[in-house]
Amino acid sequence: MSGILDLVREDLRGFAGYSSARSATATGDAWLNANESPWANPADGKGTSRRYPDPQPRALRARLAGLYGCDPSQLLVGRGSDEAIDLLVRVFCRAGRDAVLVTPPVFGMYAVCARLQDALLVEVPLVDGESGFAPDFAAIAEAALSTETRLVFLCSPANPTGGAIALADIAALARKLAGRALVVVDEAYGEFSDMPSAVSLLAESSNLAVLRTLSKAHALAAARIGSLVADAALIRILRRCQAPYPVPTPSAELALAGLSGAALARTREHVALAKSERSRLQRMLAVLPGVIRVYPSQGNYLLVRFGDAGAAFAALLAAGVVVRDQRAAPQLDDALRISIGAPQENDRAVAALASAMATAA
Ligand code: PMP
Repeated sequence: MSGILDLVREDLRGFAGYSSARSATATGDAWLNANESPWANPADGKGTSRRYPDPQPRALRARLAGLYGCDPSQLLVGRGSDEAIDLLVRVFCRAGRDAVLVTPPVFGMYAVCARLQDALLVEVPLVDGESGFAPDFAAIAEAALSTETRLVFLCSPANPTGGAIALADIAALARKLAGRALVVVDEAYGEFSDMPSAVSLLAESSNLAVLRTLSKAHALAAARIGSLVADAALIRILRRCQAPYPVPTPSAELALAGLSGAALARTREHVALAKSERSRLQRMLAVLPGVIRVYPSQGNYLLVRFGDAGAAFAALLAAGVVVRDQRAAPQLDDALRISIGAPQENDRAVAALASAMATAA
């Protein structure tokens, strides 16, 4: 039994969850156990949606495990990585007592899920340094160990700030927090990063988990396929606390097709193009008057500080270019986050900013 299970909410350790018709081990050829229709819907061409889906579609799980470098037993598939974040918070945090540690400014769902679970939130701000925003690991460890922190969310590459975390820092933090907290590394943008995945650290740290998704580099945001890679015993507990049929068959089929050899080759080309566009956009933005700072990024977006971020946001919007306003986020009251688009879209963004700034000058 691995030590990480001692951190799971005690009342859930033996919880069996819902016993669905699909999870019962039975064989037969007349399936009359799940109140499904014996006739396919006319719109269901392949007739694969008549039955409830496999809760963890076997072929997809195996393919994702191969992609991320783990055993299928260490991987949970769910509705985007958002679902895994929510599941982790519910399974590890007792309402009103345990805490989730986050490093703002950062992706908002960790705090949203903490709020929904009535978990406490411990905030250890990122530090804005010469090479960009970075976590303060000493402060994180101290804050986690002096509170009832059960989960530490690290985002790498970080949304919206762009930095990636070295594996040695993650491993050291996991060691310090062994027996106290699970370190969750959110690698939603991992495909765009030069940093290797933290999945390789799982062999040495059972209090580590990694989030991956098909929503970004794999261009399947609407399919809602996210993965959590963690200790196999922990995955079994999370599975029992997850919705009965979390992966719709049409999504699983699309995801499997989207991970074929040919599709993966195209995805790699698109990732390479996004990375070269990221450098090009970075260079073009950096020389615009009115741009204060463009942060280095390992993701498919750039965080940019402006002399007048409100005017920049409005100029982009007037040109039909929608970017993410970051001004309400801590430390980012002059910043926008611009996703890397297709080359013409990036050109449009730069042109809109350049003409607005020329007018303002
Ligand atoms: N993590 C990060 C850092 C994100 O930016 C996002 C999406 N914006 C997610 C997780 C959730 O992605 P999904 O649920 O689509 O997998």
